[in-house]
Amino acid sequence: MAGAVAAIVVAGGRGIRAGGELPKQYRTIGGIPVLRLSLAAFTSHPEIAMVQPVIHADDEQLFSAASAGLPLRPAVRGGATRQASVFSGLEALAPDEPEIVLVHDAARPFASAELVSRAVAAGCKGAAVPGLPVSDTVKAIDASGRVVETLDRSRLRTVQTPQAFVFSTLLAAHRKAREAGRDDFTDDAALAEWAGLPVDIFEGEAGNMKLTTAEDFARAERDSLAALGDVRTGCGYDVHAFTDGDHVMLGGVRIPHERGVSGHSDADVALHALVDAILGALAEGDIGVHFPPSDPQWRGAASELFLAFAVERVRQRGGRIAHLDVTLVCEAPRIGPYREAICARIAEIAGVPLDRVGLKATTSEKLGFTGRREGLVAHATATLRLPWSTT
Ligand code: MG
Repeated sequence: MAGAVAAIVVAGGRGIRAGGELPKQYRTIGGIPVLRLSLAAFTSHPEIAMVQPVIHADDEQLFSAASAGLPLRPAVRGGATRQASVFSGLEALAPDEPEIVLVHDAARPFASAELVSRAVAAGCKGAAVPGLPVSDTVKAIDASGRVVETLDRSRLRTVQTPQAFVFSTLLAAHRKAREAGRDDFTDDAALAEWAGLPVDIFEGEAGNMKLTTAEDFARAERDSLAALGDVRTGCGYDVHAFTDGDHVMLGGVRIPHERGVSGHSDADVALHALVDAILGALAEGDIGVHFPPSDPQWRGAASELFLAFAVERVRQRGGRIAHLDVTLVCEAPRIGPYREAICARIAEIAGVPLDRVGLKATTSEKLGFTGRREGLVAHATATLRLPWSTT
């Protein structure tokens, strides 16, 4: 494709230094897999025409979960080294003849759109890599660890990805390296240098950090929480009357009971109150605005749909649910035996860990309409973390 820019995202490594059970590119920052963040930096960029993931053969399932819904080329399997993995990506792209290729490490999830644009502009000239000046003094040492030289740091740069190349040039350099039996280049710039290509530096980004150690992940998680500093709390309240029937729905769980509950949907007070709590925290109206009782399509609807909608609104706002809490008020049915199941179901629908869902139940001491067993009540609180708005 003449003029097209492709991006290869290399995710074939095992990443054991970061600790944990998953390869580091599948661990999450702010609840989102690192690889998904890295891929999205390119799929969401207007100058990138195609994104080619390279993954480890053992990671097919992890990859499909992490990349669901992103517009990607089919992933190809990497090789034993980073260089071999990049080569797999280049060969996969070759039939489409992109003009420029960016090569990016999956473990750098914070590359900005501006950095990607700088890479595209720099790659047109042949070979270019993002670099940063060195602020620490750098010493060269001998085998015993003794300093032999203090390097002139004005002539040093630390180098990142995405690295940018004319596609045909990088592919030819990789083929040449294979023919020469070299498979040990740790980045594409080193391979290009070996092949005799001039490599330019363009301005890198301090925030474009490579996640390597457990400490890197901890810092990135802290930063991601700090970015979601707009903490909101919403409350919700719902009532439904008992009527003839043999069960009630509470928190998405069917509870056998001598009465049913009347309502235009499945009349799940717990989920309705939670939806209003979330919408309240978002300041986006209430459940009736989004799902009017007058609309026949919601008659008998499973209220899980309403909660899933509210959760998706949080996601679209770039936020996270920090905590959900429900109090049920009724004389009967008894909630205790179903507490765990209800919490588990709410956690599942909301996509939050079980320890972020609270559920209490109380009677009203036989007072009022709940005390007379005429209906049941739910109060709910939702705590959200949203990005600070720039408007
Ligand atoms: Mg309701």
